[in-house]
Amino acid sequence: MRPKKRLGQHFLIDKNVVRKIISAASIEKGDCVIEVGPGTGVLTEALLEKGASVVAIEIDRELCRKLRERFEGAENLELMEGDALKKDFTSLSRRRGKKFKVVSNLPYNISGPILVKFMEERGAFSALTLMLQKEVAVRLVALPSTKDYGILSVFARAYAIVRREFDVSPNSFRPRPRVVSTVVSLDMLPKALVRPEDEGFFKKVVKSAFGKRRKTLFNALKSLNISNADMARALSLSGIDPERRGETLSVEEFIRLTEGFLFPAP
Ligand code: SAM
Repeated sequence: MRPKKRLGQHFLIDKNVVRKIISAASIEKGDCVIEVGPGTGVLTEALLEKGASVVAIEIDRELCRKLRERFEGAENLELMEGDALKKDFTSLSRRRGKKFKVVSNLPYNISGPILVKFMEERGAFSALTLMLQKEVAVRLVALPSTKDYGILSVFARAYAIVRREFDVSPNSFRPRPRVVSTVVSLDMLPKALVRPEDEGFFKKVVKSAFGKRRKTLFNALKSLNISNADMARALSLSGIDPERRGETLSVEEFIRLTEGFLFPAP
């Protein structure tokens, strides 16, 4: 079968990498696992061998047919044909009465939107172990004041403990991708750092701070359409120097700043 580029089909052929992914995900018997894009089923097979109960979501009809043949009679596999971006992970997890671990060699074309979806539906997951393009992985784990630090790094840290596991060479896939891949783990925090009621505004603050990342916070945050007086008050309440750039703020500081904005006026 011809791999479909538009579906990000790069299949893992290196068994050692498969073993390392399963080990990074600490899969144990009885775990409920979501796999986005099982492809030909290399990771799926390793997950089932570990005793996990797997929900695999594959968009490619032809691959789904092959997967059904390959895993005929496998009781612990539920194969869903369709777009993972359209699945309701929250109800899937409620139905199982358990949080999912996600283990996936993600198709590059959907890595951004699926990461956002995982964060939005984070209550459905205990941990994510994901193969990503190195460039995206580096942004996810980046620290303040580095060039890769941005919206993705801040949001990930608000909800999870993020770890870079290992890099994977293009030679481990068929067809070979043009770029190096990286496996990352996100252990979801039982309680997000940001309060649920502050979340909407927190996102706006982070987005506007990075919207103009070369400007001072005071100038960058003007896109929030808040008066200079209220802005000065929020920055002073949170103890953050208005002359700093947004890209130097840690997630904790972004949260303090959000709380400063939302603190009731005297
Ligand atoms: N897990 C396999 C492996 O490691 O060899 C395949 C990984 S390949 C990088 C990505 C897989 O995701 C492909 O099988 C592709 O068809 C599938 N895929 C692409 N877009 C998808 C989507 N929106 N929903 C579900 N699966 C998708």
